[in-house]
Amino acid sequence: MYIIYLRKSRLDSGAGTVSEVLERHEKILQEYAKSNFGCEIQENCIYREIVSGETIKDRPVIQAVLNRIQEEDVDGVLVVDPQRLSRGDLSDCGTIIRAFRYTSTLIITPTKTYDLSEKFDRKFFESELMRGNDYLEYVKEIMLRGRLASVSEGNFIGSVPPYGYDKVMVDKKPTLVINSAEADVVRLIFVLSIKESIGAGAIASRLNSLGFLPRKKDFWTASSITEILRNPVYIGKIRWNWRKTVKKYENGEIITSRPKSDSGTWTVTQGKHQPIISEETFNKVQSGIKNHPRIHKSKKLVNPFAGVLRCECGTAMSYQPQGKSEPRLHCPHQQHCGNKSATYKEVEDAVIQSIGTVIAELKAKSMKTKKDFSFNDAVKKIESELKTVESQQDKLYDLLEQGIYTNEIFMQRNGKLKAKQQQLEKSLKNAKALSVPEIDYEEKILALHEVLDILKNPDADAGTKNTLLKKSVKEIRYTRHTENHTKWDNTPFTLEVFLKL
Ligand SMILES: [Zn+2]
Repeated sequence: MYIIYLRKSRLDSGAGTVSEVLERHEKILQEYAKSNFGCEIQENCIYREIVSGETIKDRPVIQAVLNRIQEEDVDGVLVVDPQRLSRGDLSDCGTIIRAFRYTSTLIITPTKTYDLSEKFDRKFFESELMRGNDYLEYVKEIMLRGRLASVSEGNFIGSVPPYGYDKVMVDKKPTLVINSAEADVVRLIFVLSIKESIGAGAIASRLNSLGFLPRKKDFWTASSITEILRNPVYIGKIRWNWRKTVKKYENGEIITSRPKSDSGTWTVTQGKHQPIISEETFNKVQSGIKNHPRIHKSKKLVNPFAGVLRCECGTAMSYQPQGKSEPRLHCPHQQHCGNKSATYKEVEDAVIQSIGTVIAELKAKSMKTKKDFSFNDAVKKIESELKTVESQQDKLYDLLEQGIYTNEIFMQRNGKLKAKQQQLEKSLKNAKALSVPEIDYEEKILALHEVLDILKNPDADAGTKNTLLKKSVKEIRYTRHTENHTKWDNTPFTLEVFLKL
């Protein structure tokens, strides 16, 4: 004996009323029964959940189904998909699995039959239930739009065409056509990689110096080059699932990211578009690219200026141990922005000096504040005078409207008020420039002294230095332009220190 269990779930929102959805599902399952068991399921074996509860406790009909499979010899329960029985809730999943497993009742869906006394079926069923809402939405989307089918036909379904191609519609299907200007750059990238066997970073700087621009950014980076060198789209293939959005639950928040998929979980199909690169060239490049991810042996911070020291171009300066010689700090976009590197020691000495200067400036300001507090009062006074002028102007208009003032008198008086207003606005600007925000200078000076002490302490580790530095310093900006871009000279670097407010 087989029974049918019907339930409308949140997934069916927009699919019609409860009875419409249940009717449609019943038809699907009855058709399945007819072709597989040779007859329809009888009315007394059809269970329709009308209430919308998600848990077993809230669904009286599923409880009746579970009772029946335990009391009678039921061969199987037909549902449109596993999630109709339960979704997400751990203890409910357990209840369902135990009930079906120990009564040897099959769970039958039009696409698969689950025998929960079988280990693999159980695992599969379990994972189906645990996948939850997001996965179902995702599957639904794929099925609705036929995205996967579209990919296997060789269409390009991404939103942004890869560099070297434009996206077009051919016979109402999206595909790619070669963008000849960009394609030349792609060819050049592969040629440089093979013929000159230079790395992605070197290729990027070569393109930058030749004046070739990527589509959106101002310059090429090593990672944008690597991305191109690894993309099989250039040999006429379509890559699917390369970077799917992954949702993670972290510290109470859903975080979405698009990590690169592990090889094997993404698929490559033959595309409809023209290749730019020959397969031979492409494969040669692949074997040259290092496939191994960088392994960070220790997560201990080595750069006391991490997250604080930035190159003039905005990029964080990176710390490079040099083996036997001194570690250096350099801008990863050095080739592009032209700022040369310096040794860590040089920068540290300069930071100590700059912070010393900042402390002296703060001390001077704190003295000045005590003297110049009057400017703060001046601002308030001018502001109230300005308000008075405004109300006098309002009055003028009233008098003009009431016919008390002639046009002439109005113009004359209004002109005077306008002049006064302009004068006041000017004074306000000056007073504001001279007035000082109320800052606790003492506290800032103390904190900066702490930074100096720790930077000068040879026993302090990078992490502690970094933590203290970040407490009071927002950013240190580094500039080192040399006279000649390509040749090294001794132009000193400059540092600008920005404090946290
Ligand atoms: Zn830079």
